[in-house]
Amino acid sequence: MKSKTEIREQIENAEMLLIGLGEEFDNVRLFGKEERYQRTRKRMEEGDIEWMIPAYQDLLRREKNDPLGELLQNFSRLIGEKNYFVVSTSTNSVISLTPWREGRLVMPCGNGRRKQCAHGCAEAVSDLTGEEEKRLRGFLLSLEKGEATPQEGRALLGTCPVCGEPLILNNIYTGAYDEKGYLEQWGGYTRWLQGTLNRGLLVLELGVGLQCPTVIRFPFEKITFYNQKAFLYRVNETLYQLTENLREKGCPISENSVDWLQFLC
Ligand SMILES: [Zn+2]
Repeated sequence: MKSKTEIREQIENAEMLLIGLGEEFDNVRLFGKEERYQRTRKRMEEGDIEWMIPAYQDLLRREKNDPLGELLQNFSRLIGEKNYFVVSTSTNSVISLTPWREGRLVMPCGNGRRKQCAHGCAEAVSDLTGEEEKRLRGFLLSLEKGEATPQEGRALLGTCPVCGEPLILNNIYTGAYDEKGYLEQWGGYTRWLQGTLNRGLLVLELGVGLQCPTVIRFPFEKITFYNQKAFLYRVNETLYQLTENLREKGCPISENSVDWLQFLC
């Protein structure tokens, strides 16, 4: 296994850095086995407010004093002004709050900090206000205690000024997920990727499993395979295996990627 210093040197020397953050960054291990989480999540799914799941997870992580926000800040300092891009399929809001370089983050699965129209009107995609975040937190706590019904949460964020449908959070947990919420950043990402060809590219795939492998996992394998100067680290607690054709161009690490990042930073 490579030492911390060796990996840090590799990051330092890389011309370009591609970073993928996956489901391990939801850090559900902090509360996933708790009965109240499972019960509340089930109520959200059955009550047609599953779009609140990322906001509920944000709330629980905060309650557990999850150190991930601070860890990501340290990591963003470590990679500083390097030429990097971060793609996250985790919906953890602290990823969007990390001081990455301007325009170098895309979250194709959304998160719990933006809203959209349930009907998909483009005009409605915007960030939550502080007041709305507070109202949402209050509702989630009441729902967990059984003092509020899912029904009462459906129009919690108001209605769309264009069509009058309820406003909901902009993330993949809803069947009505409006992808317009991230398309602009995605365009920046694909342009950046085109510029990686034949450049020294270090790929860090952290905690990406098979929940939506077509966004990070499979494309990262392909990018690494076709770029002569690319090298891939795949860090994952269970799904760390590399495909045969990447044996010489990658290094699998069987560790939870959040713990690994803690070791690195
Ligand atoms: Zn609308």
